[in-house]
Amino acid sequence: MLIDPEKCVACANCVPVCPMGAIYVDPEIQRATINQDECVECGTCFRGMSQEQLNPTLVRTVRKVARFFRFRFEPEPDVCPTSAFVMNELEMPRLVRQVFSDPVVEHKSTGIKGRGTEEVKTNDVNPRVGVGEVGYTIEFGRPGVGVRFRDIQAMTSALAGLGVQFEEKNPISHLMTDKSNGDLREGILDEKILSGIVEIKTSLDQVESVLTAVEDVNRQIDTVTAVGISTRCDADGEEERLSEVLEELGYDAERAKTNLGLGRLTNTEAA
Ligand code: SF4
Ligand code: SF4
Repeated sequence: MLIDPEKCVACANCVPVCPMGAIYVDPEIQRATINQDECVECGTCFRGMSQEQLNPTLVRTVRKVARFFRFRFEPEPDVCPTSAFVMNELEMPRLVRQVFSDPVVEHKSTGIKGRGTEEVKTNDVNPRVGVGEVGYTIEFGRPGVGVRFRDIQAMTSALAGLGVQFEEKNPISHLMTDKSNGDLREGILDEKILSGIVEIKTSLDQVESVLTAVEDVNRQIDTVTAVGISTRCDADGEEERLSEVLEELGYDAERAKTNLGLGRLTNTEAA
């Protein structure tokens, strides 16, 4: 994302809109500027503000005159008065920022927008996690924090060392060059995204080693992580083995979501 300095009138309306805090008004040039290293190309500034077409010179003059008479001329807070944002065409590796951060852009690898995965939300019809297996979603980043692929790779490498199975229909798995060591494509490692999800599954006896590895890596990386854990219930809707293991490990296991199995598989090609 860019801001056209010819158009920007430094009203600062866009500064609080950016979820990464990447926009600031540069006092040297008196224009809003985007920190390109922190910008995750989410498009919130471009889409989230009304774009008006006021003449920049006129707006600057009115603002100067207003300042002289000690009153303020400010546009409505959700408006860029001069349509100064420019959504530039992105190429790899920067394109990966937009693909993971802009909720209206679809992942080519999975056909899903946003973070590009259904996780286990459709596990009843699309059984990623079977009976006796344990599924994990390891989620990185949040608005205001984000995550670089280098930090995601630190986690995928540690998990690969445990012999976990990476979910095929996950966009981060698609960026791996070698699933046996968790390596991601070299060129994207410094790219930053708003958030991403790694999905894996293991047998029940690996739960402790996976959670220990996630905690260890979490302490070393510059982001926040959240772990979701799932399994398939028996025919009576019961599940005791995983919750028992989690309780033994000191976690207070509560069921957060239950898929009822009422779904129906209608697109066998996508399955
Ligand atoms: S809202 Fe538009 S004119 Fe105002 S500071 Fe941001 S880019 Fe510049
Ligand atoms: S594209 Fe997103 S991260 Fe980049 S400046 Fe705009 S709101 Fe901020």
